Amino acid sequence: MRQKIAIDMDEVMADALGKLIRLYEKEFGKSVKQEVLQGHFLEEVIDPDHKHVIREYLFEKDFFQDLEVMPDSQAVIFELSQHYDVYIVTAAMEFPDSLSHKYQWLREHFSFLSWKNFVFCGDKSIIRADYLIDDHPKNLSVFSGEPIIFTSPHNVHETRFRRVNNWQEVAAMFL
Ligand SMILES: [Mg+2]
Repeated sequence: MRQKIAIDMDEVMADALGKLIRLYEKEFGKSVKQEVLQGHFLEEVIDPDHKHVIREYLFEKDFFQDLEVMPDSQAVIFELSQHYDVYIVTAAMEFPDSLSHKYQWLREHFSFLSWKNFVFCGDKSIIRADYLIDDHPKNLSVFSGEPIIFTSPHNVHETRFRRVNNWQEVAAMFL
């Protein structure tokens, strides 16, 4: 039987942080440096008075429509799908308006995956697979299989999980 790999979308397949930073910089004319983000979420390093706008961007209807694809994710996920059962697992219910955009985004950029392999959920602790690749410790710490942390600025100090820094490292681990 093939092993199952569950893969998170935002910050793993889709560059949501990159878009948040661009929107923020454009609206407030400030630049967010990569160095200050290390170990922090964007909301934690910007002016506290502006904090609410990050949630507002995320709740905008089309936020998830045009996110950049993370480098090499398409080629590596395609290869993974030849050897493993790959499931895209996203806590999309947090942003209900994102559902159709996330679905369209997957169809556009990962057209080789079937809709049967998309899991739009709330609490990821319900997910059972052999591996979960995710940037969020809160999802990884409740996962019953082997958790793998995908590097994102906010999680660089996390040491509890096996780490991959990019999709080439995922390929080296699984292929
Ligand atoms: Mg994520």
